[in-house]
Amino acid sequence: MNHTIQNALHNLGDHSPVEAIRQVAGGDINEAYHITTRENSYFIKTNEGIPTHFFEVEAKGLELIRNTNTIRVPYVYYFDRPENGTAGAIVMEWISGAPQNDTPARLGRKLGAMHQVENERYGLKGESFVGTLAQPNGWFGDWLSYYQKQRLLPQLELAARQGLMNHERRSKMEQLIAQLDEWIPKHPGASLLHGDLWGGNWMAGPDGEPCLIDPSVVYGDRSFELAFTELFGGFPKQFYEAYEDIHPFPPHYHDTKAIYQLFYLLVHLNLFGESYGRPVDRILTAYIG
Ligand code: ADP
Repeated sequence: MNHTIQNALHNLGDHSPVEAIRQVAGGDINEAYHITTRENSYFIKTNEGIPTHFFEVEAKGLELIRNTNTIRVPYVYYFDRPENGTAGAIVMEWISGAPQNDTPARLGRKLGAMHQVENERYGLKGESFVGTLAQPNGWFGDWLSYYQKQRLLPQLELAARQGLMNHERRSKMEQLIAQLDEWIPKHPGASLLHGDLWGGNWMAGPDGEPCLIDPSVVYGDRSFELAFTELFGGFPKQFYEAYEDIHPFPPHYHDTKAIYQLFYLLVHLNLFGESYGRPVDRILTAYIG
């Protein structure tokens, strides 16, 4: 068993014999394991190459969601930082189960309830991550400024540094950012958002109970979250119907949806390259011409 895992189990206080270790597939970023000791069962992610506070940010995000008492997230037992060539780790509750017919509807209702938990300000304390990209935050009195300054601009600048902004794309991005107040509201509810809610970031636990994993939390317009769920699919119509029973979509949803999807497409452009350039350009053309 690798030293990082041994160390993590030791530090969280489980000194019982390890009975099974199985590597778990499906993570984009980290190595993931299912570890069973005589005492308990864990999901453990390890990574050498991540920024030092990466797992701390994940643990804090899961805790913020947990504290809403609206939707299940795995309990985090332990996290540490990568240091001097050793890997960082996060150890959480092992969740197992299979979706039932009503799991998508339960997910919709619970997410709707989570989005009813609102903060006074927009953003988040400190830097977080979206995928492996650093996400600057801080507290903002209006959502429009947060979305302009902390979401669209940093992605635009990163894409430019990576040679992924040709002249036309750049100039349309700049126009869109300058005119953003035509579409993005200043003071929508500052809902707690999961922040990275694609189909791979929820799973079914015992009795088909939906469970959110791997968040990138922020307080902001819930349309931002809903728009991302629609970008790559994975959310059945029962999910949306149940969400709307709890919390009808905001009236501005339709006009803002593609601008919110644009952020996630820019992230994909920056992480995976020009194959995401065309959908970015299509959105820019739709809004800017
Ligand atoms: P990464 O941060 O590398 O993207 P994820 O957190 O998405 O990793 O986890 C990878 C996969 O492991 C998920 O797609 C899911 O199938 C599974 N998984 C995540 N968390 C748990 C958990 N607490 N219990 C059981 N399986 C989990």
